[in-house]
Amino acid sequence: MPISLEDITAKVQTIKNRNPVYADLAQWVGELLSTTVKASENFRPSDMKLDFDSLPKAWFQGKSLLNPVELSLDWEQAKDLYKQLVDRIKTMEDGRRQVEGLLKALAEDHDGIPILMTAVLTSDFKAIQTTAQKFKVDPPVLTLLLRLSLRPALLETAQAVQGLLDLNQWTYGHCPVCGSAPKLADLSGEGGKRSLHCSLCETVWTYPRLQCPFCENDNRKDLSYLRAENEEGLRVDLCSRCGHYLKTIDLRELPGPVIVPLDDVATWHLDLVAQKNIDDSDTTKSRII
Ligand SMILES: [Zn+2]
Ligand SMILES: [Zn+2]
Repeated sequence: MPISLEDITAKVQTIKNRNPVYADLAQWVGELLSTTVKASENFRPSDMKLDFDSLPKAWFQGKSLLNPVELSLDWEQAKDLYKQLVDRIKTMEDGRRQVEGLLKALAEDHDGIPILMTAVLTSDFKAIQTTAQKFKVDPPVLTLLLRLSLRPALLETAQAVQGLLDLNQWTYGHCPVCGSAPKLADLSGEGGKRSLHCSLCETVWTYPRLQCPFCENDNRKDLSYLRAENEEGLRVDLCSRCGHYLKTIDLRELPGPVIVPLDDVATWHLDLVAQKNIDDSDTTKSRII
């Protein structure tokens, strides 16, 4: 189900109630996200070929159905949405000083394809960081705007593809549609079944709870989690073997649906704690932060 404007409003309110530190940020990202949802009415999926009779064999062996770099997205539409988002930034505190740099960053392109949008599709965050420094804009703001301006096209494409897939047959930790890593996980239902949410196209698929989606390690000795005190329903799963972590929202304790761009920014404190802890080989199970 696509996320609605009502879902976004409700989520922003939930975040404000849960953690007032994020009130302004949640409001801000909620507004930008709403702009993308309104714009998505005019978006078309990528004009890729979906006329195969059966799923490619390689999909069952872990090769995602699409390669984001090969998608022929409507770049003009994405650029137009980016400019709309930059326009919204002007009204926000600290936003105005970044506008010029944000527009210059978009202007760098290759055959009409914005270089930085390609960097998002290939998860080349170093390129984004370098450009952000060059044009004196905040890297997280630049990343967020690029992600959001591609979001309608990617979600449309993912939805068109998902109908062709039996996601229950996918047993891998990366996205069955676009191959990207998960950004968030949720636990739901009796027993807390775990679902992963793709960082790029937001496809949701189930994955075993006691296994690391990044390295497929299922040795319990290497797996641990942290949870925030007084924050029911939020935790970070850590894998000491590969050094990755995944923020998890327990939908038995917090209201859904998960909205990746919003839930991600409203849990940045967990990223900080996880990054600090991941190098600590003495991480013990279920430590409370
Ligand atoms: Zn994906
Ligand atoms: Zn791992």
